[in-house]
Amino acid sequence: MQKKAAVIGAGIAGLASAIRLAHKGIETHVFEANHFPGGKINSRSVNGYRFDQGPSLLTCPEYLEDLYRLCGKDFSTFKMAELDLSFKYFFNDGTQIELGSDRKQVVAEIAGKLGENPEKVNNYLSKAEKNYLLISPLFIEKSLHRWTGLFGAKLVKALAHLPSYKLFSTMNDENSKAFKNERTVQIFNRFAQYNGSHPFKAPAMLNMISHLEINTPPYLPKNGMIQVTDALMELAKEQGVRFHFEEKVEEIRIRNKVITGIKTVQQEFECDFVVSNMDVSFTYERLMKNEYHPTKILNQEKSSSVLAFHWGIKKTFEQLHVHNMIFSDNDKGEFDDVFESKTISADPSFYLYISSKAIPQDAPLGCENWFVLINAPIESGQDWDKEIEEKRAFVISKMSHLLDEDITSLIETEITLDPRDIEQRYSGKQGSIYGNASNNRFSAFYRHPNYSKRVAGLYFVGVSVHPGGGIPLALNSAKIACDCLFKDFKILGH
Ligand SMILES: Cc1cc2nc3c(=O)[nH]c(=O)nc-3n(C[C@H](O)[C@H](O)[C@H](O)COP(=O)(O)OP(=O)(O)OC[C@H]3O[C@@H](n4cnc5c(N)ncnc54)[C@H](O)[C@@H]3O)c2cc1C
Repeated sequence: MQKKAAVIGAGIAGLASAIRLAHKGIETHVFEANHFPGGKINSRSVNGYRFDQGPSLLTCPEYLEDLYRLCGKDFSTFKMAELDLSFKYFFNDGTQIELGSDRKQVVAEIAGKLGENPEKVNNYLSKAEKNYLLISPLFIEKSLHRWTGLFGAKLVKALAHLPSYKLFSTMNDENSKAFKNERTVQIFNRFAQYNGSHPFKAPAMLNMISHLEINTPPYLPKNGMIQVTDALMELAKEQGVRFHFEEKVEEIRIRNKVITGIKTVQQEFECDFVVSNMDVSFTYERLMKNEYHPTKILNQEKSSSVLAFHWGIKKTFEQLHVHNMIFSDNDKGEFDDVFESKTISADPSFYLYISSKAIPQDAPLGCENWFVLINAPIESGQDWDKEIEEKRAFVISKMSHLLDEDITSLIETEITLDPRDIEQRYSGKQGSIYGNASNNRFSAFYRHPNYSKRVAGLYFVGVSVHPGGGIPLALNSAKIACDCLFKDFKILGH
């Protein structure tokens, strides 16, 4: 008889799982609480402006390509926008750094404007690349919890380079040793934000994240990030996946440690497998109340959240690019505030994303769609309305100064996003956007596996489980979970 699976959540990890399950001939149903797919990768349009609501940087498109290949489709149909620069950085002293995707230009820019030794910059970037290429096939593309999949030549090769991972140092320790200018250190420390961590605590190994933005370009799909969701939806529908929107799952049904189905607000649904794309803490707390909870894993420190403004700006500014980072002078302090005081500094760094620079239809003619993103602590009862008011005034003042023009009256539409929204809209525990933080060197081992050790037929995908946060890792979590499921139940399929 045909096997049946329920996927809880249509985030990208849920969609990728559904595609893989259906492709093996499993009858696959996706249950999504919202009326739209994609989870955090969704889009909103207001008064002629279109805003990507979550991610703005697509790294490692090869993991998307992998799904296209699986479904026998040509990935060249997934078109990318052309970016003239990868990133532009603004510092308080007026220094502006423009990084492209050509290594020579990057090295020359950092050496020329920040006074670094070009050879050291080049070596740093080569090491980030080497470490990424050694580590990703083992710790990103495989289950960390099933050692049989890890043994082999790749493990031996990765272990041979153990000293270069600097296992006992933090990102900031190594960046401070590599560079003499604190602004260069700040540029490279910032990559800790890509998995919601603190660069003065996160292991130096994570410095390899810079490889994904500086050695390889950050991609922007031609229709904005929503194209990722649209593409996965198309593949899923072609594979015969059935969708149940606005159907929140309330319980995972288990009998004698075996999955029997799920209960949603509308129905009882029997199935052989459940793949949860819901935050793993909430999956246990809300859907498996009577089961054993792996509390040590679930109670790890959470990753940071965000406070964001989407502004429709009725003017264009040549000085700005698609991806802009406006730095404060307070590198350590602002991360301490987020992770220790659970506040946002008075003068935080912020990221400004303007997709209309590369995708003109995202804003009316002569206008720009600004997405201002500030690193924020997880929700723990802060006065967010006050924070929004204060940070709004701060960003307006800082951008007005930078652009030499008061931008207050240029804002003609506004949407805000804070940690409360992330928790309510996507069920991200306390608004954390990447599940657990990576603030210690064992954090990778404290992420929940992609399968249940106690319940047969239960699997976990998405940012809150192995291998972690961000689009590439969420897509990999789906591959790892499905491969485990196919192996556990000897499903050969196509
Ligand atoms: C502002 C912001 C900026 C970001 N920038 C980047 C970036 O530039 N690059 C990058 O790679 N990553 C970025 N990220 C992270 C990226 O968005 C996530 O890593 C990725 O989208 C997570 O996908 P997911 O499938 O794990 O989960 P989610 O997108 O959280 O999806 C989970 C889904 O499950 C549904 N759900 C939950 N509980 C239930 C239930 N009980 N019943 C039914 N449905 C349920 C939710 O409604 C949701 O649709 C950013 C995130 C945010 C918020």
